Amino acid sequence: MIRFTEVVKVYADGTRAVDGLSLDAPTGRITVLVGPSGCGKTTSLRMINRMIEPSSGSIAIDGTDVSALNPDELRRGIGYVIQSGGLFPHRTVVDNIATVPRLLGSSRRQARADAMELLERMGLDAGLAGRYPAQLSGGQQQRVGVARALAADPPVMLMDEPFSAVDPQVRAQLQNEFLRLQAELGKTIVLVTHDIDEAIRLGDEVAVLRPGGTLAQLDTPDHLLAD
Ligand code: ADP
Ligand code: ADP
Repeated sequence: MIRFTEVVKVYADGTRAVDGLSLDAPTGRITVLVGPSGCGKTTSLRMINRMIEPSSGSIAIDGTDVSALNPDELRRGIGYVIQSGGLFPHRTVVDNIATVPRLLGSSRRQARADAMELLERMGLDAGLAGRYPAQLSGGQQQRVGVARALAADPPVMLMDEPFSAVDPQVRAQLQNEFLRLQAELGKTIVLVTHDIDEAIRLGDEVAVLRPGGTLAQLDTPDHLLAD
């Protein structure tokens, strides 16, 4: 479980992005942070893997405060997916996917073999392995981004608007594939979106944030819909 306790983030210019956020993201489930642009979703997500440090409060993963962990190790141990895939532009698809496993000590051969398997699992043709990100469609880039995040088999995945950069038809397809994959893998996922329909569709738990970075509501989609 990922636990936020009274987390506050005030940026250097005085912007109060997150203001006393407490919530639990349960192990093996998808917790969605949803709310309008600027309400602190990305800031909250990036505090989990210490890309951003909180001003006060704490975030713990399975009882361990993340501030006690080495930031580089923490980041390698957590999958991170952003809009448009966030791929390294000067590396091929297969090398994008193999990067973190290589850093974690996999042999080049093993990392590439695993990457090819992940490509297949994400429904991508093996022929794309040698392409560069700019030579892929938006949906393909997004799939490779998910494959890359999964490559080190992290228990936790952070996803920031992972399906926003593609057209609605591809988005629906990616969402379905994602739910099918998650049913198998059971990762602990925190996913950020501004789209309430997506939140309700994907979330086991949905945290609705307000402008100013406070929690308006935390509930299951069924309960949210009933209100
Ligand atoms: P969201 O992901 O919900 O759109 P963000 O977490 O990106 O929200 O931003 C929350 C607020 O913090 C916004 O008002 C944004 O402009 C501000 N903000 C984000 N990053 C910085 C920064 N590095 N310095 C100052 N303000 C920031
Ligand atoms: P997103 O697509 O996640 O909303 P943004 O365009 O808000 O991204 O932010 C892009 C980058 O700029 C982030 O690293 C964020 O921290 C930073 N940023 C956002 N708002 C501000 C701000 N008001 N002042 C300084 N940096 C900001």
